[in-house]
Amino acid sequence: MNNQNKVKRFICLICNRVANNPVEIICGVHNNQPLIAGKYCLSTHLQNNNGKCPVGNHDGCNYHQSQTLQNQINEFDVLCLTQFEQYILDIADEKKEKENRNVCGFKGKIGNMNTHLINSCPLNKSDCWFKGFGCDYSCQKKYLEEHLINDMERHFGLVMTEFKKMRTIINKQQIELGTMQEKFKKLSDEILMLKQQKDNIFYQIQQVKQEIKINESEELKIDCNENNGNTQLLQSNTFNFDLFQSSAKLINTLSGHTDYVCNIDYSVFDDCQLICSGSSDKTVRVWDVDNNKQIQSFNGHSGYVCCAKFSQYHNNNNQNVICYSSYDKTIRFWDFKNNQQLQVFKEHTAAVYCVRCIDISLLQNDNKKNNNNK
Ligand SMILES: [Zn+2]
Ligand SMILES: [Zn+2]
Ligand SMILES: [Zn+2]
Ligand SMILES: [Zn+2]
Repeated sequence: MNNQNKVKRFICLICNRVANNPVEIICGVHNNQPLIAGKYCLSTHLQNNNGKCPVGNHDGCNYHQSQTLQNQINEFDVLCLTQFEQYILDIADEKKEKENRNVCGFKGKIGNMNTHLINSCPLNKSDCWFKGFGCDYSCQKKYLEEHLINDMERHFGLVMTEFKKMRTIINKQQIELGTMQEKFKKLSDEILMLKQQKDNIFYQIQQVKQEIKINESEELKIDCNENNGNTQLLQSNTFNFDLFQSSAKLINTLSGHTDYVCNIDYSVFDDCQLICSGSSDKTVRVWDVDNNKQIQSFNGHSGYVCCAKFSQYHNNNNQNVICYSSYDKTIRFWDFKNNQQLQVFKEHTAAVYCVRCIDISLLQNDNKKNNNNK
């Protein structure tokens, strides 16, 4: 088609094809040969090689884009580009079905290639605009309008089918959204209810705290009245804690328990001052206050001792007994003089935190008197 030697002059030295937008390389180092590279090939090479010349890998070359060369190249007769690519693919894949295929017979100037590809190449097909809705038709661009007009009704049907599908999906999603909104509302209601319950419990705790405070201050008032007779501590029925704190001092320390002491009680037996104590070390101990020593210890139970009290009733009946309650769900009576357990109440189903002993001897004496008088 074209004179081979003539073509060689226009070959890009980087990609060895006819140069696209040819650039002349003007360089003092190799000025004997006319050198040409395609504009895109050259700029890629310069970017990747720090601007070094593609021939001698040195600096200082000049580059000049040549419209004259481009015009000469445009005068070459060439095959259709799409058809050429088809040939290349056919060479790579020999088994490919080659009959009954469109062939483009275009041979013309490079300058006319673009116009050919867009307007008249039978290999250049355009898809129908309604491909996304299911029309698989494709043809040369110039015949597409005809197809669109002829198949208008079918295309409309395809669009409507797609539209119905979308509407079904939207309906389904709206139903799901409704269900989720209902669930969300239920959860919000539950959260609100829990919050109210929390507020109620908090309010009850505050009330109980208030009651405990009142009880404690009343107990302190009673203790001060009974034990001290110190009227200075009580002014207008109010306990003066600061005065109590400044006048109080440590007299004695009783040590022996190996864990928290939960509670103590004080009493006098046979003119001897005693303290009993219940502890998390699971023992009850009795202490002689005057001699500052432990005189008895009892560990006949399996849980922490929550509360231990001297029993005045037994004391008045010549017995030395402590009543105490424990984490092991029992209430027990212990004769600490003879170190002997007298009685166990096991009916509680959880830890017993507190016991209180009331002396009913006087009541019994009254009853006896009344009976004797009858
Ligand atoms: Zn090139
Ligand atoms: Zn050079
Ligand atoms: Zn073509
Ligand atoms: Zn179509």
